[in-house]
Amino acid sequence: KFLDNDIEKVVDADRAHVWHHLIQHAPWTGPDPKADPRIIVEGKGMRVWDQKGKEHLDAVSGGVWTVNVGYGREEIANAVRDQLIQLPYFAGSTGSIPGAMFSEKLISKMPGLSRVYFTNSGSEANEKAFKMVRQIAHKRYGGKKHKILYRERDYHGTTIGALSAGGQDERNAQYGPFAPGFVRVPHCLEYRAQWDLSGEEYGKRAADAIEEVILAEGPDTVGALCLEPVTAGGGVICPPEGYWPRVQEICRKYDILLHIDEVVCGVGRTGTHWFGYQHYGVEPDFVTMAKGVASGYAAIACCVTNERVFEMFSDDADDPMNYFRDISTFGGCTAGPAAALANMEIIEREGLLENTTRMGDYMLDQLHALMDKHEVIGDVRGKGLFLGAELVSDRTSKEPVAEKAVGAVVADCNAQGVIIGATNRSLPGFNNTLCYSPALIATKDDIDEIITATDNALTKVFG
Ligand code: PLP
Repeated sequence: KFLDNDIEKVVDADRAHVWHHLIQHAPWTGPDPKADPRIIVEGKGMRVWDQKGKEHLDAVSGGVWTVNVGYGREEIANAVRDQLIQLPYFAGSTGSIPGAMFSEKLISKMPGLSRVYFTNSGSEANEKAFKMVRQIAHKRYGGKKHKILYRERDYHGTTIGALSAGGQDERNAQYGPFAPGFVRVPHCLEYRAQWDLSGEEYGKRAADAIEEVILAEGPDTVGALCLEPVTAGGGVICPPEGYWPRVQEICRKYDILLHIDEVVCGVGRTGTHWFGYQHYGVEPDFVTMAKGVASGYAAIACCVTNERVFEMFSDDADDPMNYFRDISTFGGCTAGPAAALANMEIIEREGLLENTTRMGDYMLDQLHALMDKHEVIGDVRGKGLFLGAELVSDRTSKEPVAEKAVGAVVADCNAQGVIIGATNRSLPGFNNTLCYSPALIATKDDIDEIITATDNALTKVFG
């Protein structure tokens, strides 16, 4: 039904007017275009179809870890439709039925946390947490405890504020100057360890490196530490044992608020638990989330806090400044929480947290088997259906393969009808990790297809 003649007009209109995210346009613009922009026209389950009618297995959940429950979910569409007819919007300072019901459901999965602040992108959710930290610093500490620590290789969003906390240099290059008061701490990627340690000892050492930064900056100037539980675009990095308990200990020791960015890991992606931090027994003060919250069926993001944070904004009715002086216009849309509630119900009813663990373990095994076969795979890692394979030209030196070669593997998988991803260029030699994040409904057959495509592509590109 979608492959009518009009699709050519759509492609022309796209080529002429749409500015696509995160891509060079030169190949498909100008007088002699070498390629067409890709337009995805339809999706069902794990599959999508492009403008030429070609079917693809989507191993990246809509490109960026988002469509957790897969495509074509009428239940979510109907929940949104019904809600839009009843009430599409009223500004965020008032409540809404889906806002309240989704918040109750979400908080039931997040022991220790109690308040949900609605917004509409991951970047914005992180900005909200940063603003809360700054306001707390002013209210409680005369503005002094205002610094926000972030980690090398982590990413927290695209706005200038969020980029100020950006640990991926390619994303930041040419956009400075950035906001002051953001301080970088070292990464925690055991495969590329900065210290001659491994396992739990490496994890503890990487956390101690955060303490060293805190001491150098002055603990009374540091308000918060913002981390991804499993780093996404920075290389699919799972922290080793020992890291998180020590991080928690350090935050408590210096009264530093712990902000976990669950924009990618949140809502089932890592399996078993609803959130990535829950694998590590961490007790955060802020949790931000976006992508998988409504699986992309509506734009919604949240900054969730504990009662301790909330009370700092609500404990003094006589102070006219004692509230969070912030608004997000589209944080008042009702489609987001309506979709998010239906999304969570699907995950529960279909046992998708369990499926994610089962299929994630299976896929990790398959990637290890590929590693035995292909010398170019230096490391495989991940949690749940959030996996990466780092490509190196030499296993001893760990020299990353050329970025072009990674692009060729991704392109070859694409040509075979399987959409996979790769990490950002970021630091030199950084864009060398293949990324997989199929929807949480993935089956063994889907995973076999993804692995076979990768196997073929690696053979073709590296021999
Ligand atoms: N945080 C993390 C960990 C992300 O990966 C992203 C986006 O990829 C963001 C925040 C920003 O989210 P958004 O693109 O919705 O602003």
